[in-house]
Amino acid sequence: MSEEKEVVSEALKAEEKLRSKWYVLSLEGDLKPLEEFDFTGHEKLKKFADYEVKKSRIVDQEPPHVSLMRSLELVDYEPASDPGNMRYYPKGRLIKALLEEYVTGMVLDYGGMDVETPIMYDMAHPTLAKYLNRFPARQYTIESDDDKYFLRFAACFGQFLMSHDATISYRNLPMRIYELTRYSFRREQRGELAGLRRLRAFTMPDVHALCRDLAQAKREFRRRFKLSRDVLRGIGFSSDDYELGIRVTEDFYRRNRRFIRSLVRMHGKPALVEMWRERFFYFILKWEFNFVDALDKASALSTDQIDVENGERYGITYMDEDGQLKNPLILHCSPSGAIERDIYALLEKAYMEMKEGKPPMLPLWLAPTQVRLIPVSEGHVEAAERVARRLSRSRIRADVDDRDETVPKKIRDAEKEWIPYIIVLGEREVGAEKIPVRARADGEIRKMSIRELVAEIRRQVRGKPYRPLPLPMRVQRRPKFVG
Ligand SMILES: [Zn+2]
Repeated sequence: MSEEKEVVSEALKAEEKLRSKWYVLSLEGDLKPLEEFDFTGHEKLKKFADYEVKKSRIVDQEPPHVSLMRSLELVDYEPASDPGNMRYYPKGRLIKALLEEYVTGMVLDYGGMDVETPIMYDMAHPTLAKYLNRFPARQYTIESDDDKYFLRFAACFGQFLMSHDATISYRNLPMRIYELTRYSFRREQRGELAGLRRLRAFTMPDVHALCRDLAQAKREFRRRFKLSRDVLRGIGFSSDDYELGIRVTEDFYRRNRRFIRSLVRMHGKPALVEMWRERFFYFILKWEFNFVDALDKASALSTDQIDVENGERYGITYMDEDGQLKNPLILHCSPSGAIERDIYALLEKAYMEMKEGKPPMLPLWLAPTQVRLIPVSEGHVEAAERVARRLSRSRIRADVDDRDETVPKKIRDAEKEWIPYIIVLGEREVGAEKIPVRARADGEIRKMSIRELVAEIRRQVRGKPYRPLPLPMRVQRRPKFVG
């Protein structure tokens, strides 16, 4: 297998030439040109707009999450791979796996049918060749004997080819198909790669919906807008953390003003609108939730699109009530965006909070260690381990710092790991009903029983997936992954 020089699609070339008009759409439904909008109180939206209009993707400074992902021993560069293909250490893998399970669970609740499709496709396949030219992405290509393949850059192909072969009735619509791609591949330009923000291999939850007509597509679109918002909230983002971007053709906007306004109202804040005179891509409407990071760069998290071309291109049909075979409209949604990008945004958010004087943290359900027990001396290690095991039985990740270090040093190290709860266990605490627990979130030390601590943690992680501790319970038994 060898890797060829990148294939640049027609859509990508078109995107470079694309001329857009930019507006802000207010909650009241006023569409104002960018330069006329008063951004007071909407500073992040201003940053997002500036970033979008400039369209500069070049990374000139290392984003703060890169040193955090390494110092927390989550993720790292892999020098033996192509840039933008990462290695995950146990704690990073835990966080990523939990996010994958959470997003998948939310999509299944929404009605997504989970499928699995190949990661590489034949370059010469007639439908795919045409599609490649309509998608603004760069591909990895692979040679195998005399055949040429490309690595998928999204789950679209697999799901469309599957839908093409399926027998679909109007009664089956909207038909929701889901895959969490591990991985999707895009050969982003080298100068644009930055830690977990922009990668060449990424994990993408991708849920398509085949819809009967525009009315059904719009209903479904609103539903998925809410789903995306719920997913981001569950991960740990509030609506203050992201900005809505809407991309639309002039024609579609004119005919669907009320519908587009309803999206902005659901979002609860003004949105940036990019308007195209003509349709360059396969969609007439697209939105994203964009995270603005510590360096004022914006990146899309959730997104959805109304695709008016691929039903026909892929020969996907459904039998309508009138006995006619018709092509569905297709919605393309990722309710969370790439999982790696969620981790990037969580780390950047923590960094920005640290700059404001708050302790940086991950959401409790994602913290690799939720409770750290610190025995005062060797004689208290076993008692600490008993408590940790008791917590583990309640599905809480607890570990024991049994290293031969001073208590203050162990507390400092636990703080460097952003561990949400710390318990120092000495003579007085062993066997006591209530013991002092340090909570990172508010910096307080509260006396509570283990049962109360369990209840407090369980309340905060309710409804979220759980995985056990990703490393040995005793800290001394752990290798150091990042030197
Ligand atoms: Zn798609």
